[in-house]
Amino acid sequence: MTIGTQRQFRCPPTEAVPTARTGLLTPALGLRGVGALRLCAAAEPLRPAGQRSGNPRPARDYNSRDASRARPPTGCARSRRVRERPGVPPGSRSGAGATGRQDEGRRGVPARCCGRHDPGVRKPEPQNLPTFGFLLDIDGVLVRGHRVIPAALEAFRRLVNSQGQLRVPVVFVTNAGNILQHSKAQELSALLGCKVDPDQVILSHSPMKLFSQYHGKRMLVSGQGPLVENARALGFQNVVTVDELRTAFPVLDMVDLERRPKNTPLPRNDFTAIEGVLLLGEPVRWETSLQLIMDVLLSNGNPGTGLAAAPYPHLPVLASNMDLLWMAEAKMPRFGHGTFLLCLETIYQKVTGSELRYEGLMGKPSILTYQYAEELIRQQAERRGWAAPIQKLYAVGDNPMSDVYGANLFHQYLQMAKRDGAKELGAGGLQQQRRSAACSCVSILVCTGVYSPPEPAQRGWEPPFHGHRDFRFHPGLMKASHVVNDVNEAVQLVFREEGWAL
Ligand SMILES: [Mg+2]
Repeated sequence: MTIGTQRQFRCPPTEAVPTARTGLLTPALGLRGVGALRLCAAAEPLRPAGQRSGNPRPARDYNSRDASRARPPTGCARSRRVRERPGVPPGSRSGAGATGRQDEGRRGVPARCCGRHDPGVRKPEPQNLPTFGFLLDIDGVLVRGHRVIPAALEAFRRLVNSQGQLRVPVVFVTNAGNILQHSKAQELSALLGCKVDPDQVILSHSPMKLFSQYHGKRMLVSGQGPLVENARALGFQNVVTVDELRTAFPVLDMVDLERRPKNTPLPRNDFTAIEGVLLLGEPVRWETSLQLIMDVLLSNGNPGTGLAAAPYPHLPVLASNMDLLWMAEAKMPRFGHGTFLLCLETIYQKVTGSELRYEGLMGKPSILTYQYAEELIRQQAERRGWAAPIQKLYAVGDNPMSDVYGANLFHQYLQMAKRDGAKELGAGGLQQQRRSAACSCVSILVCTGVYSPPEPAQRGWEPPFHGHRDFRFHPGLMKASHVVNDVNEAVQLVFREEGWAL
């Protein structure tokens, strides 16, 4: 099958610069901030407050969790020559040669485990050890709404062997967050006909497990769905929801006349101070959440008191899912959590004159999410007994802003980390992680979701930058290494690149 277009990706020049606060050497692709955690959260050198990436070009949305229902797949049938990423030798072969796997291509998909090591299963021959892994987006790549994309079933027939086990490590990386990890794994297992383990699923907030320094602190948590269960699963044992805070201090929530207290409650002094804020996903009743989060930040965690001056730096804030917009059943995009963060940042800046800062900002395209994904890939390979290091990652997605931008940003990061000795990898919350073994991350864009190839009249026109404030706008980062019709073609492309049998 002919593979679609590939616009050549070029990394902008980068250099290592000391960060503003720590003096750590931090690659300049990154960050406005302080050390490795901020390195993971942002993609722009420190710049004066108020100086933001602007782009007056006309709007075109690329953000979606389920764009498929809004845009039918158009395919990428226009044949264009596939180009290689600079620095990656054409036809490169890493790891397994083309021997011994010709019989594993299109067999059925037994409902066997995809990720766990089964000691009863014979280990693969050394020449078949995978040295690459897949990071698969879910919405728009594997599923559309609650329906599996047929190409995903074809892809998994290639990805599993005759025993129903994955031939290479695979993780599923989504910006969704209002669901439990094991629920998403069960959903994928049913749709793909292949058992998916919860530790193969990366939700937008999953990397918060790394922030153990906050797990014992009393955290205000914002979002919806199984909020407290998600926070506890991430390691946070002492959380307070916005609704609980509102109940404790009913006079704080005054926008809705119907929800205002009928009587003035007595002031209370038995409330244990909040020590940080978790923003897991978009909440309902934004005015309530914005007001109470601001109250917590401005009062240093004691919203029943009034402070003469707002403390700064403020309490630590961890946030996930920066998607500005997403597509659902409606014809026009819907607000995502990125819009909520934009509101909160703007209000905080306006009220205090200072910038809201994040201790961690995760979900695609954050580097932290890709580091987390690589760690899970490595653990999966270890469980399977694959001794060869996973040196190359292939990230398949449908969204140029999150999937492609994130994979390209991580690729830049890996290149610079190798070049500069990865001094920052051991800092901050990443101390728990091993040094990266991967050398590259290849972005593959599919056309079954939000992305469709530009019409002739649109060529040369760039969409506006919908990325987060802390990420630098760079059009090159939104250009995929490869564009293919669907995930099945993506898997075939990778297997050919790696010299594996289809
Ligand atoms: Mg997607």
